[in-house]
Amino acid sequence: MFMQKIIQIIWENHYNQVDYLLNKYDNLDDNELLDLALKECKKLNIKYFTKPGFMQNIIPSIGCTKCFKQYPCSYCSFHLENEQFSALMRILRKKNVNYYVKVLLANFKEVRGDYKINPYPVELFAVRDFFNKFEFPDQAFEAFLGENGVFKKKPMYGTVFTGGIVKREDVEKLQDAFRKNVSIMMGIEIKSEWIRKYWLNKNVSNKDIEKSIYNIHELGATCGATIILGMPGLTDKQSVQLLMETIKWLDNMPITYIQIGYLVIKPNTVQEYIYNELRDNNFLKEIGVVKGTRTCLIDIIVLYDTIIKIYMINENIYKKIIFSTQNFIDNAIRYRDKQNYGELTKLEKELLNDILKITRLGTKNIKQFIEKYMIIKELPEYLDAMEKFNSQEDIFDLRNTFQTVGEEILDRITCNNKMELTLELYNDITNYKDD
Ligand code: SF4
Repeated sequence: MFMQKIIQIIWENHYNQVDYLLNKYDNLDDNELLDLALKECKKLNIKYFTKPGFMQNIIPSIGCTKCFKQYPCSYCSFHLENEQFSALMRILRKKNVNYYVKVLLANFKEVRGDYKINPYPVELFAVRDFFNKFEFPDQAFEAFLGENGVFKKKPMYGTVFTGGIVKREDVEKLQDAFRKNVSIMMGIEIKSEWIRKYWLNKNVSNKDIEKSIYNIHELGATCGATIILGMPGLTDKQSVQLLMETIKWLDNMPITYIQIGYLVIKPNTVQEYIYNELRDNNFLKEIGVVKGTRTCLIDIIVLYDTIIKIYMINENIYKKIIFSTQNFIDNAIRYRDKQNYGELTKLEKELLNDILKITRLGTKNIKQFIEKYMIIKELPEYLDAMEKFNSQEDIFDLRNTFQTVGEEILDRITCNNKMELTLELYNDITNYKDD
């Protein structure tokens, strides 16, 4: 696949460094690895996130196993965080699973003060994929949530994240560990199977996603989905259309929450590559794929308009929608001109404040937001932004946009297998399906 090969090129230096670290740690024995992992984990100084009745346990696991098996999703740079610790834990996990679990537990004790403690009503376990047995093996499950686990009694509610397929037995096992129920957040990203597989490098089918959602629902657990606003290499218009289709698709299934994350330019991602290498490309600028320093980020006015569009899908949708918390706004402005918040216009600041209010959990004053929208939509700045946004429509269809961006990436990228990459691109494009 073309995008997978591009990611391999983008990540080449990083993976060379990871290979070096893996070799280095592979030469240590189990006890040396354990000592080192405990020390390194302490240095990470992990803080758990808490609010009344809620605790987010941030477990310092191996991280995303997909990152080291098939290369990461094209928009994600998770693997760059703590790469040394991640490599160390990877070797420890391979050589001695009980020692691996010891590190996870030691960190829990360090942060929460002890084992055998009273749980919060809601205990969230933040590992990348809770149901991935390499990242969170059965021994870890037992150590935290088994009969002799870390809590004096079963917590009332549990929340976990997963990026893959959820089996019925996984849900049942998790439900057994909590007194009332569990909530499972699935990383779905987008409705289009082709984009997920060929452009985002996340090969999970819609059939498997739907089956997982129904499995969770039929067993009485709560299911949530995380999706993305903004797609690497697409116009604002296309990204917003895809977001709407994704929300409508999910809204027809038994999903309680739809969490919208905002695509940001992270290191070693395809969107960063486009930002660094193609933002001066006049052709891409012309079709609206890159917009100078705002490459791949949605305009603030368009963001405001999109939120309105989401709430207009139906009268109950706002109960399901969660925007991914505090940094939603920071992300919206972080890569703006000179990354300077002060350069926003008065109107943009005002809109950001409104968006901040509406996207905060529990403060969804939709009526007020819509009243404000009725004023905003008459302003010349709004009309101007929306005119530009609307003019992106029909310039290219999605298939052509992917092909065009792929060709521009090929034109710019340095590698010694360009012919192979070109064939991969055209092969992927031939398989393109609007789904
Ligand atoms: S988005 Fe999730 S599954 Fe994909 S690379 Fe990042 S951490 Fe791994």
